[in-house]
Amino acid sequence: MSIIQRRTLLAGFAGAGALSLVRHGARAQAWPGATHALRYPFNVPPLTYGYAANEPSVCQAIMQLHHDKHHAAYVTNLNAALAPYPDLQRTALPDILGNLAAVPEAIRAAVRNNGGGHVNHTMFWQVMGGRGGAPEGEVLAALNRSFGSLETLKAKFNAVGVGQFGSGWAMVVLDRAGGLKVEARPNQDSPMMDGSQVLFGNDVWEHAYYLQYQNRRADYLKAWWDVLDWRRIGERYAEAKAGTLAV
Ligand code: MN
Repeated sequence: MSIIQRRTLLAGFAGAGALSLVRHGARAQAWPGATHALRYPFNVPPLTYGYAANEPSVCQAIMQLHHDKHHAAYVTNLNAALAPYPDLQRTALPDILGNLAAVPEAIRAAVRNNGGGHVNHTMFWQVMGGRGGAPEGEVLAALNRSFGSLETLKAKFNAVGVGQFGSGWAMVVLDRAGGLKVEARPNQDSPMMDGSQVLFGNDVWEHAYYLQYQNRRADYLKAWWDVLDWRRIGERYAEAKAGTLAV
């Protein structure tokens, strides 16, 4: 067993105690499933598809840089920020992000930026690698209830993505009542920070598209729908409803 594997295992066992504390503690958990994953020391989850799987919408070079360098930097910086804080190391990341006010001020900005970056990108890789098209089943019904049609959702989502000034995300967010909304988040803020969850979202930081699209963010947003994995998004919707959506 490597040192890293052993550390991961130990962190998992340590986390089991923290989990029961959270479950039986005073703080209400809006999304109990969120406590099942994402513990220190964090790792970049491997892609479940090849770097070229999202071509031509997102080129291989962007996928490699984005996953292997940008996401990895968030994880490295997050681990470094938490290194001197054993209590926080025992807390699942969604619980940390859901209560940033409790994070020591010395590392609060680093945890917000890099923890947010870790959960946002973990979600992002999950919902890509597909062939676009249209959703089916329950998630289609939910999207239709909230937006009227897939075309209306896309138009609204793309407008929010183009309109996000500077770096950030366009997202379809689930509120606690199960409603779906299109919202932007600046920088690496996550809906977990305000008690919501994300069904899917697109990264509109320049690092996500500039190499291929330069200043044409609108073209990137439009092309991105062609690589969505609607099957996985349908699973995410079911997991959110069941309280088991991790990130
Ligand atoms: Mn990114």
